[in-house]
Amino acid sequence: MAYFRNRFVQRIVVLTGAGISAESGVPTFRDKDGLWEKHDPMDIATPEAFARDPALVYRFYNERRNKLSSVQPNLAHTALAQLQSHFPGEVFLVTQNVDDLHERGGSEQVCHMHGQLQAMLCTACNSSSPATVDYNSISVCPACTSRGTLRPDVVWFGEIPYFIEEIETQLASCDLFIAIGTSGLVYPAAGFVQHARLCGATTVEINREISDVTELFHHQRQGLATIEVPGLVRELLQQA
Ligand code: NAD
Repeated sequence: MAYFRNRFVQRIVVLTGAGISAESGVPTFRDKDGLWEKHDPMDIATPEAFARDPALVYRFYNERRNKLSSVQPNLAHTALAQLQSHFPGEVFLVTQNVDDLHERGGSEQVCHMHGQLQAMLCTACNSSSPATVDYNSISVCPACTSRGTLRPDVVWFGEIPYFIEEIETQLASCDLFIAIGTSGLVYPAAGFVQHARLCGATTVEINREISDVTELFHHQRQGLATIEVPGLVRELLQQA
C-alpha cells in the first residue's frame, strides 16, 4: 500500500498510449510527423480499408512491425515495470499500443487492448499466431493452413477492443488511475478516466500537452513521459 495525495493506494490501473513510446522513436497517432500524416487512417486501419486494398494494409503493418527491431524501451517503460515488480499492492497495465516496448522494458503483465503488431489473426479459424515474417494476401495460417485468411491482429476503427470486461473490472476497483501519453480521442479508452473516477479512484494524467480529457483528471503532470513517469513511480514507491 502507498500513501498518495492524502489517500491510501492499494490498486493501481495504468493506461498508456502512443505518447509513451514516442521518445523511443515510434511515431504517435496524430502528432505532427505522426504515423497518419502520410495516410488517412480510414485507408489503413479499418476492415473496409483491408477489404479494399489489402496490399497497402499488409505493407503498412509489415513496415511498422519491422521497425520495432530498431527501437528500444525508454525510461518510462522501465519505470512502469519497476512499479509493477516493487509496488506492494496491485498494478494493472493496459495499453493502447501495439508495440512490444512494455514487455521489453520488463513488464510481465501487459493488457494489449488494441492487439499487437507481432501477431496475425486468422479470419477462418480465429487463432492468433506470432508474426514472424512479412505477410500478404497469400500467406498461410500456421494453425489451420488456410491461405489468404491472415490479417494483422490489431483492433481497427469500428472494432471492439480486447479484454474490455477485465479492464472495466480493474477500473471499478482501483484507487489510483494513471493515463500516460494518450490523446483522449479514441474510445473506449478515453472514457476510462470517468469510469475510474465514478468508482472512487484518484486520477492522474501525464502528457506533454493538455489533452482532450485533461479536465477530467484530478491531477495533471505536463511533461515528457521519460521524466514524469519515473518521477511519479519514485513517489509511489517511496511512500509504499
Ligand atoms: P495519439 O497519437 O492520439 O496521442 C498521443 C498523445 O501522446 C498526445 O496526447 C501527445 O500529446 C502525447 N505525447 C506525445 N509524446 C509524448 C511524450 N514524449 N510524453 C508524454 N506525452 C506525449 O495516441 P493514442 O491516444 O494512444 O491513440 C490511440 C491509438 O494510437 C491506438 O489505437 C493505438 O493503437 C495507436 N497507436 C499506437 C502506437 C504504438 O503502438 N506505439 C503508435 C501510434 C498509434
